[in-house]
Amino acid sequence: MAGNLTFDALKAAVSKDEIDTVLTCIVDMQGRLMGKRFHAQHFIDSAFEETHCCNYLLATDLEMYTVEGYAATSWAGGYGDYVMKPDLSTLRLVPWLEGTAMVLCDLLDHHTHEEVAHAPRTMLKKQIARLKDLGFTAKCATELEFFLFEKSYDDMRKSGFRDLEPISGYNEDYHILQTTKEEAVMRPVRNHLYKAGIPVENTKGEAETGQEELNIRYSEAMNCADYHTIAKHAVKEIAWANGRSASFLAKWRADKVGSSTHIHQSIWNEANENAFHDPSGDHGMSKLMRQYMAGLIKYAPDYTYFLAPYINSYKRFQKGTFAPTKTVWSVDNRTAGFRLCGDGTKAVRVECRIGGSDLNPYLAIAAQLAAGIRGIEEKLDLDPPASGDVYEAKRAREIPGTLRDARETMRKSKMLREAFSDAVIDHYARAAEWEIEEFDRVVTDYEIARGFERA
Ligand code: ADP
Repeated sequence: MAGNLTFDALKAAVSKDEIDTVLTCIVDMQGRLMGKRFHAQHFIDSAFEETHCCNYLLATDLEMYTVEGYAATSWAGGYGDYVMKPDLSTLRLVPWLEGTAMVLCDLLDHHTHEEVAHAPRTMLKKQIARLKDLGFTAKCATELEFFLFEKSYDDMRKSGFRDLEPISGYNEDYHILQTTKEEAVMRPVRNHLYKAGIPVENTKGEAETGQEELNIRYSEAMNCADYHTIAKHAVKEIAWANGRSASFLAKWRADKVGSSTHIHQSIWNEANENAFHDPSGDHGMSKLMRQYMAGLIKYAPDYTYFLAPYINSYKRFQKGTFAPTKTVWSVDNRTAGFRLCGDGTKAVRVECRIGGSDLNPYLAIAAQLAAGIRGIEEKLDLDPPASGDVYEAKRAREIPGTLRDARETMRKSKMLREAFSDAVIDHYARAAEWEIEEFDRVVTDYEIARGFERA
């Protein structure tokens, strides 16, 4: 059970008037929680079985625009309903909101009651099932990086997002003094998430002004993605409740480093042992790990879109910023796309450093599992590790450098099409295309300043 509240415990809490609201949520393409706030009594009387939402929730952009060009839904199709099916194993308290619990839902087709193939939780479930057929379970951890800002979201919006002031004035990497000043936000983040059943390990200052990182203990892949999504949501709500704001944009200013989501992965066998570990292998790596990692590396260009879904995501990939651009691996070296961690120990695992803080964890983990599984199926061999400054490695393969390129590589990926189906990949290719179309339509401040007089 991933949550920390049984249905019976919820009923008892409702009868004692301790809980009056149940947030009933799905995860959208952008990795956000969308749904309804149920009166708890109605939830336990009937909505726990199912409720409904408009099927446009898996076809909008960040601004909830009704984007055309999707086969799954459209104006012509009448934008019908999906069934939201609560996954009661995810029921949990939401301690940062009074009297509130939360449940995550799967999305089902209204007529067939089959899971919607392009729903993020469904896509991850599918890859978890493939791995299970091979006798394995994936355990993952995502590290959440983000910036805290002095002002609230509303203040920033009203000022047109000008004068964005981070909460601190200097690089706060591992900085105890500066992060003490951020405890009004970060302490409730840690403690409330912990009480919500999310095993927070720590928070720390990161290598920029106002940048924080939140680490959560590794867990089975679906739990990891659920934890990430709820934690990101909590950070925003708790920052808001304190009159501050938190941003998970991958790159909010050209001259500051961006924010990442590093993804740690290991594969476990049926005896619940880390199947990546073999004490007799190089660096303690098993053959299975070598094949899985070779798949991750080979197919990184195919799934880069799922690690970097917006135009802005690609601005983070810059030399000398710890945001890697090369699909090679290394031993405890932060300049390569993939870093071997815990080498020689039972905790041996691979960390993918390519993803930005703006990724959708379900899609990112699903795509990486698909690549790793393909590596195992193809019995791929792992090249020797890269060393030194990988940014300068001339022969190492690059990941796509723009959303346009990443979209093309994703769209043409046989591996992804076989893992997720043509319809699913076409759906996300349309999502990426829309981001490009929207960006191409706007005239930016940069163009005006550069060309107004001089062009
Ligand atoms: P660092 O010092 O680089 O932050 P940590 O030891 O704190 O490294 O681990 C980083 C993340 O890796 C944590 O979220 C931790 O739970 C996770 N992790 C540890 N062991 C494993 C494993 N076997 N598989 C996947 N993730 C793991």
